[in-house]
Formats: sequence, C-alpha cells, structure tokens
Amino acid sequence: MLSALPTALPQVLADADFLAFTLKHPDFYPATSFVLNNGTKCEIWDTGVICFTPDSYGNNDIVLSSGVHGNETAPIEICAALVKDILQERLQLAERVLFLFGNPAAMNAGLREIKDNMNRFFSGAHQIDPALLAKAPVAQQAEAAGVSFEKLRCARLEQYVSRFYQAMPQGRNRALYDLHTAIRGSKFEKFAVYPYLHGKPWSEQQLTLWASCGVNTFLLMQTPATTFSYYGANEHNAHAFTLELGKARPFGQNDHSRFADVALLLKKLISGDMISTKAFAETDFHLFEVYRAINKQTEAFELCFAADIENFTQFAPGTVLARDEGVEYVVEQPGEALIFPNAKVAIGQRAMLMVKPISVAGRTA
Ligand code: ZN
Repeated sequence: MLSALPTALPQVLADADFLAFTLKHPDFYPATSFVLNNGTKCEIWDTGVICFTPDSYGNNDIVLSSGVHGNETAPIEICAALVKDILQERLQLAERVLFLFGNPAAMNAGLREIKDNMNRFFSGAHQIDPALLAKAPVAQQAEAAGVSFEKLRCARLEQYVSRFYQAMPQGRNRALYDLHTAIRGSKFEKFAVYPYLHGKPWSEQQLTLWASCGVNTFLLMQTPATTFSYYGANEHNAHAFTLELGKARPFGQNDHSRFADVALLLKKLISGDMISTKAFAETDFHLFEVYRAINKQTEAFELCFAADIENFTQFAPGTVLARDEGVEYVVEQPGEALIFPNAKVAIGQRAMLMVKPISVAGRTA
C-alpha cells in the first residue's frame, strides 16, 4: 500500500526531520508510506513511529526506542539524526529498523511524563482493552476511556513492536534497545538494565557489543518488570536493554561528544558495518544485581542524602538511606549501592533500588 510519492519524501517530511514532524503531531498521525530512491521502504505507522525496510536486509530486526521519558533528549536527538540520514539517503540500511519516539506530548512539555511513567506500564500493565486501540488521536481516545495518554501509548507501542517482529518468519535475531538518560549523574556514566531472562543465559555477544561503546556496567534483573525492555525480551525473545547513556538535559543542550560512541555503534548496527568487540571477560564489566527495592509508602517518604547524589554511590552499612512513616531504611550489606532514587514517585511506586555486585560465571552464553 505505497503512496503516490515513490521517489520523494512526502511534503510533510520535505526537510527529513521526523522528530520535528512528530512534535508537531504529538497525538496521532495517520499511517503513510513511501519509497526512497535507494529502494528503502519507509512506513509511518503513527506519530513518532517509523519503520524502514531496505531493499535487501540481513537477519536482524532492530527496534530503537527513545523518549519513553519525554525529557531524556540526547537519545531522541541521536535517533532523529539517524532517521534524517536514512531519509536523505546518506545512510544505507542493511537491516530492518523500527524507530519509536515514545512520548511526544511529554517531549513537547519538556517533562519525563504528563501523567504516567510509561516505563511502568508495558507487558499489559496499562490494562487497555484492545478494542480501544483503533486509529484515532490518542489524547481523544484516552480522555474518552478515562485513561492517560501514556497508558494508551504503551499499548500502541506494544502493537507496533509485535507488528514489526511478526512481519518476518521466526528465527531471526531480534533487538529492542530502549534508550534513556538518567535524572542524575552516575559513578558509571553509561549503564544498562538487562531485563530478567527467566534463567536463560546472559548474552556475551550483547554484553561485548555494548562494552565496545563504553556501556560496561549492567544491572542484571531477577524479576519480571513492566518496562519496555522486559516486554521486548519476554514477549518477543529480543535482546533487549534499557540503556542509560548519561544525564538528562533539555533539547539542544546535550554535549553530543559524550554520546558519539553510542551513536556510531547504532549507525554501524543498522548499516551492517563491522563492529569490533573483545572476547567476553567478566573482569571487563561492572555487574550488579538488585538487592532490594525501596517503595514509597506514604507522603512522608524522604531520602536522606544529597539531592544530586550519583547512581551507584555506595554507603557504609548502617547509613540511613530514607525514612517513611514509621520506617527507617538502613544500608544492610557491604557493597550495597543505590540507583534511581526519586522521592517524587507516586505512593506505592519504587523510590530507589539498592544493588550489589554479582558474578555471572557459568551463566553466560
Ligand atoms: Zn528514562
């Protein structure tokens, strides 16, 4: 179902700026498709959702997601630049790629989210009735159904990921890289959350791939989650990660030299360039597992350390980390480090994770 513009960008994309286009249509855009001169088929499935299928493609189906948190702009800018290069035929794809800009409304507002944190509502946690997912502006539908834009968007993104992977026969390599930046600085500037694999071995190929661009700190999860990366790994058997690539800054204020290695890796991945990686050695990595999650139980919840504390900061046993009504959370184990502290989450949600070092000896493949 190709449009009548076989060799040119549609007028709406005349400047090849799919990010600007997305931000102009934050709720919805009707599906449209066209073909570039180099044979790459481009399909816009919705606002912020563009699928590329080159004339000939390899065995990898790659989802690159950014902006699931609207104010985490560096990865959004990296992906927007890749999309622009593809549309202007400066970058010849060698693989099928689906780009997703997660939360355009929050991007416009300069916020992490408008109402709901999207990375808590995948794998069906959005509880959206599939019958609701008709093609109509998300905001309108959400209002009519009494749910947030974000929950409906999670449900839609799940559909698009399913469509992308399931359009091909089984047995291909699937990847879903959900790109983020963190609220705070980190002892390890770049790190990744490796979602729970239900006992399957961790992939040495994936670990060394990401280490090649400076991501050599991994948090290995041991329980299911409602994150996008867990959804990709669990529902689609994709190699999936939540990648934290640095600190969140507004659009236009990112120092892209700090992201250059990651941007180059993504470009090589989708254009089939050689990527040189080292043989896997555990000593090249900082590997952590979750020791415990601390949830906010009441409005009285408060964190007991400096507001600008860095992820992976360690404290001595006995140090008070947080207080809630009638509870004091204290460091229990040597080596315990904190990650993702945020006192502003909703009641009942995770306010911080405590992690500790782990060995993966014998459990990788
Ligand atoms: Zn994020």
